[in-house]
Amino acid sequence: VEQYSTVRALREAVQSARRAGKAVGFVPTMGYLHAGHLALCAAARRENEFVVTSIFVNPLQFAPNEDFDRYPRDLVRDLGMLQTAGVDAVFTPSVTEMYPEATQTVVSVPALSQTLEGKTRPTHFQGVATVVLKLLQIVRPDTVYFGQKDGQQVAVVRRLVRDLSVPVTVRVVPTVREPDGLALSSRNVYLEGADRIRARRLSQSLSQARSLLEAGERSGPTVQAELERLLTEDPDIRLDYAAVVNADTLVPLSHIAGPTMLAVAAYVGPARLLDNLMLDVSERAVRDLLPPL
Ligand code: AMP
Repeated sequence: VEQYSTVRALREAVQSARRAGKAVGFVPTMGYLHAGHLALCAAARRENEFVVTSIFVNPLQFAPNEDFDRYPRDLVRDLGMLQTAGVDAVFTPSVTEMYPEATQTVVSVPALSQTLEGKTRPTHFQGVATVVLKLLQIVRPDTVYFGQKDGQQVAVVRRLVRDLSVPVTVRVVPTVREPDGLALSSRNVYLEGADRIRARRLSQSLSQARSLLEAGERSGPTVQAELERLLTEDPDIRLDYAAVVNADTLVPLSHIAGPTMLAVAAYVGPARLLDNLMLDVSERAVRDLLPPL
């Protein structure tokens, strides 16, 4: 894998791949890679002749009280993993390379950004949308890959790509989990001992909610209340939200039908954890919204 730290060098590498007729796939990350990121890289590898991964911890999407400074980083290990994954190019810009001056121009998708995560993190998705559009302008991929794990991010990115006619195909890859169900996350390193065991409850409560749907329940408030009950059974879990929303608009569903996201966020020890299920719900059936890869 070739490493590029400047916009100019990365652009030259992508341009020569493109001139050679190669389809370009792009996987944006914040590094500290795990099997979830590698699933995105594998999907990109299957579908493109040239794969670019970026590693950039984007200050714009962290609030001042958040973990920007202590966000885990290990570039040497990441490069080894990307090498094994068969990625062609890794873009590792510094903060000053990406933002030589404080950015004036921002991208915001307010209706999708203020709900769910946005209640706790009101500036987060503007930072995400801005860096995603900027990275897409730098790399100019044919296809960009995101994880279902960050379900609201998927909704925001899809909407920004549509609204601004960004010439890219967005692909979403199902969440990769630990054997006990915990969704992989770079922030899982904050979990130790009892908290690591406790953290199972997020995915467990989601699968119990799915069982309710499979048994015929279609009331959004009922399923939401059940998620809240299951999560708060453990007094050492501090619930942020449990929600039953349309997967595209993020609007809460009173009657559950169509593309549905069951989303939870909770504090477990020092970690703030997220998880979701994306389901396609009809009167008679409940299916996964994303086809397994
Ligand atoms: P991050 O480095 O946390 O910004 O994540 C980079 C990309 O990897 C995002 O599109 C995430 O949604 C995706 N991702 C993170 N964790 C997982 C996971 N457990 N399964 C699938 N994709 C993931």
